[in-house]
Amino acid sequence: MEVKNLKKYYPIKKGIISKTVGYVKAVDDVSFSIYPGETVGLVGESGCGKSTTGRSLVRLEDPTSGQVIFEGKDLASISKKEMRELRTDLQIIFQDPYSSLNPRKRIGDLLAEPLLAHKLASKAEAAEKVNHILETVGLSKHYKNRYPHEFSGGQRQRIGIARALMLHPKLIICDEPVSALDVSIQAQVLNLLKDLQKEFNLTYIFIAHGLGAVKYISDRITVMYLGKIMEMAKTKEIFEHPMHPYTEILLNAYPVPNPHMRDREQIVVEGDVPSPAHPPKGCVFHTRCPFAKDICREKVPELNGTDHLIACHFPLSQ
Ligand code: SF4
Ligand code: MG
Repeated sequence: MEVKNLKKYYPIKKGIISKTVGYVKAVDDVSFSIYPGETVGLVGESGCGKSTTGRSLVRLEDPTSGQVIFEGKDLASISKKEMRELRTDLQIIFQDPYSSLNPRKRIGDLLAEPLLAHKLASKAEAAEKVNHILETVGLSKHYKNRYPHEFSGGQRQRIGIARALMLHPKLIICDEPVSALDVSIQAQVLNLLKDLQKEFNLTYIFIAHGLGAVKYISDRITVMYLGKIMEMAKTKEIFEHPMHPYTEILLNAYPVPNPHMRDREQIVVEGDVPSPAHPPKGCVFHTRCPFAKDICREKVPELNGTDHLIACHFPLSQ
């Protein structure tokens, strides 16, 4: 998948005639590629546009502009009908699977639903598939007669994953799939995602606000701030040679087993993320960056580089 100059702006309306007085720039000119079989982690504080990016890639949101090329087709401009056909290839797993599971339906019916809706199987075939997929995600096939409220958080997330797998997707957007789970359960779900990736040759975009889970699961990491990509590189590179001040700050917030292991001096950030309705001029990070200079307040730094991409006028030296 190749994402080119993706933007998602939400109009801010005011008054009785709903005049547009401005825009919330949730995703602002984002470009990156995802290769088959890899996991790209998307990290940043809440409100930085990670979820909106993920949702735009599978057309749960209509992008304002830009392209999302998937196997030669631009998902940003195809019709809803064409998108429905591609829906089998592109799935999403949510942070809170419970809210996306109809509480009045049995798990077996919930899982069979997409297969039947896309007319991909008979009822008997779908039932067979449900048994198989429940076991694939580590649940008993006998669970299919139960209702969503009868499961724990970790089990519900397994059901969410099972549902995403029913249509044999190629790419899955994992939108904070472990953020709401206990730490001990997080590891189990992450291992399950890793195993399934190998078994079904899946490609993941893994969204998270912290670096812990992302480090464990991602081949590459994309760091976002206020709708823009700050840095993108291989996971090892991001952890060992971060070049963007914001990445460095995220790393400092990431708990390390032995604090004396840190050889770098800690950079401290103050203040909250500004509103995406009024992003700062120039580099969007300049209001919180300890290294900001005049040019940072005027000129937007471009995302430059080949394997290690960075958007900063004064990248950290190695
Ligand atoms: Fe900081 Fe300037 Fe780099 Fe932005 S461009 S991150 S303000 S040094
Ligand atoms: Mg989110």
